[in-house]
Amino acid sequence: MHFGLTDEQKMMQEMARDFALKEIAPTLREDEARHRFRPELVRRMASLGFFGCCLPEEYGGNGFGYLESVILAEQIAMVSGSWRLPFNMQNIGPAITVNRYGTLEQKERFIPDWVTAESFGFFAITEPGSGSDVASMRTTATDRGGHWELNGQKMWISNAQVGDWGLVYAYTDRAAKYRGMTCFVVNLKDNPGIVTAPIDSKLGLNCAPTGEISFHQARIPKESVLGQVGEGFAICMWQLNNTRISCAAGALGIGGGAIEAAIGYANERTQFGKKIGSYQMIQAQIAEMVTEHEAARLMVYRAAWLKDQGLANQHETSMAKLFASEAAVHAASEAMKIFGSYGYSTEYPAERFLRDAHSLRTVEGTSNIQKTIVAGISLGDMANR
Ligand SMILES: Cc1cc2nc3c(=O)[nH]c(=O)nc-3n(C[C@H](O)[C@H](O)[C@H](O)COP(=O)(O)OP(=O)(O)OC[C@H]3O[C@@H](n4cnc5c(N)ncnc54)[C@H](O)[C@@H]3O)c2cc1C
Repeated sequence: MHFGLTDEQKMMQEMARDFALKEIAPTLREDEARHRFRPELVRRMASLGFFGCCLPEEYGGNGFGYLESVILAEQIAMVSGSWRLPFNMQNIGPAITVNRYGTLEQKERFIPDWVTAESFGFFAITEPGSGSDVASMRTTATDRGGHWELNGQKMWISNAQVGDWGLVYAYTDRAAKYRGMTCFVVNLKDNPGIVTAPIDSKLGLNCAPTGEISFHQARIPKESVLGQVGEGFAICMWQLNNTRISCAAGALGIGGGAIEAAIGYANERTQFGKKIGSYQMIQAQIAEMVTEHEAARLMVYRAAWLKDQGLANQHETSMAKLFASEAAVHAASEAMKIFGSYGYSTEYPAERFLRDAHSLRTVEGTSNIQKTIVAGISLGDMANR
């Protein structure tokens, strides 16, 4: 058993840290205040090879796997939870899914543009009335002979208003239930039947666009189907088990960022003539935060490693996502307390870490849903895949 990172992985870690500090941090406060998504920043991340993990070289892959993607995403999220999302949108979400289920033509056509961020990716599962219960979605795709017709509404979709090509899940045969769902590769731009709108009321992740997508008799080509007609639910579950690991990496980063800020403050702030970090109650908070964070890191790295080995990992991925996201919320909440009144101020990062961390309890399956997966596999009701 070996717990260390390779020299190459350490270099990647440093490179991502350096990038986050030099290219994200300087304008982050203003970007956050203006809810500014910077397309050029995503392309810059792409140019450094951030989105080539787990993909073959012929489509822009960089020869690295899930573990390296996690290491990169963690470092970015330590500075900003918002800028971790492109890892899911450009790489772990649509690109890896098309690489697994797509035809040769689909792979050649879509993956390189996601890796270089020529095309902004997305994946649309959630609807106004359908979240955890994916099978209850109402969006339909009807075979009109020469094309498919999409009707329905997607909600809470990352990149909706900036997205180009991405994945849309819809029913092609509602009566067939789970076996009646199909995945499509869809372009959101230049289609009169597709309208997107931003969701501006988000509590956090201010630099990461989120929105709605409406399909009104939207015509999409016959060859848009990813995998087989009726295979969409299986594809969706496979995809979520992967994007979940990226969320877990984001949680690690946010938790790490909150801990770093809290430790810095505890070593600097003086009350009653002593650094507040010298008080045992503050030390107990720091000890809990750091211990949970370290446990989360071991779980997330291990789940990523299992994926890279091609071993069953759903159990470990759900445990990692559950634990890391709850640990991140706890770390950020404790950091706010350690900062005192300044923790309650938007001048300091603790409140942003808390707002961003909360999203990770919900996305890619809420903490309750992760518990149902962990318990289902533990009790033998579900197979670990
Ligand atoms: C910032 C952000 C970005 C997002 N990006 C995307 C995206 O790119 N693509 C996409 O498709 N979706 C996206 N989502 C949506 C997200 O995945 C869903 O919100 C999530 O799956 C939960 O669905 P819901 O909000 O409808 O909650 P619900 O499913 O309605 O759940 C409400 C509550 O009930 C609990 N609950 C539900 N079922 C059970 C059960 N069986 N047992 C116990 N408790 C249960 C949940 O844990 C939760 O606490 C995003 C959401 C956010 C906030």
